Amino acid sequence: MSVTANLNCIRQSLPKNVTLVAVSKFHPDEAILEAYKTGHKTFGESRVQELVEKQKTLPKDIQWHLIGHLQTNKIRQIAPFVALIHSVDSLRLLSEINKEAERIGRIIPCLLQLHIAKEETKYGFSLEECHELFKSGAYIDFRSIKLKGLMGMASLTDNAKQIHSEFRTLKHLFNEVKKIYFPSDTAFCELSMGMSDDYPIALEEGSTMVRIGSLIFGNREY
Ligand SMILES: *Cc1c(COP(=O)(O)O)cnc(C)c1O
Repeated sequence: MSVTANLNCIRQSLPKNVTLVAVSKFHPDEAILEAYKTGHKTFGESRVQELVEKQKTLPKDIQWHLIGHLQTNKIRQIAPFVALIHSVDSLRLLSEINKEAERIGRIIPCLLQLHIAKEETKYGFSLEECHELFKSGAYIDFRSIKLKGLMGMASLTDNAKQIHSEFRTLKHLFNEVKKIYFPSDTAFCELSMGMSDDYPIALEEGSTMVRIGSLIFGNREY
């Protein structure tokens, strides 16, 4: 099937209030342009260099999301244009993003990445670390970032029960954090969870943002 057909199919399966981030990593500009021509404007990349190169050549009204691990020494390259960073996994990174955003006079929207999977290789705060961060209020003076919610990846497994349970854990945390620390902040509203293989489960568990690559663009050739 074509990118256009795939996109239409996925769109039909998403509730209206859910944002689709088309994950275009490892796919060429032509594939992104095909999606763009259907009216799709939100794309996700996981590597800074690839993101920067694509941003340079592709249409300027694309909203680029960074979904992969970000090293502090690379913040500067994406700070001028990035629409949302899903992968903030330390207070230090958040602080450095804030500094750079302040320097260039932007407010950069961010999500905190939580480690909810069983695998050890995935980045992110543990539930405890996340609670500590909010309790400490360490982020409150960061005026040049905007915390918009949380992100997480479930384990790579066929065990649907486990995936449900991991996403549910993240949704609970989101509800708690929202209730205690952002009760009147309508901008703290995003829960980024769900990829090609598990997004239907993520939707059932309250996702507001799904990050889908292979189902739209086909398998990646690394
Ligand atoms: C690659 C990637 C995705 C998309 O994965 P698919 O299985 O191709 O949908 C989503 N989120 C993150 C963080 C990724 O790195």
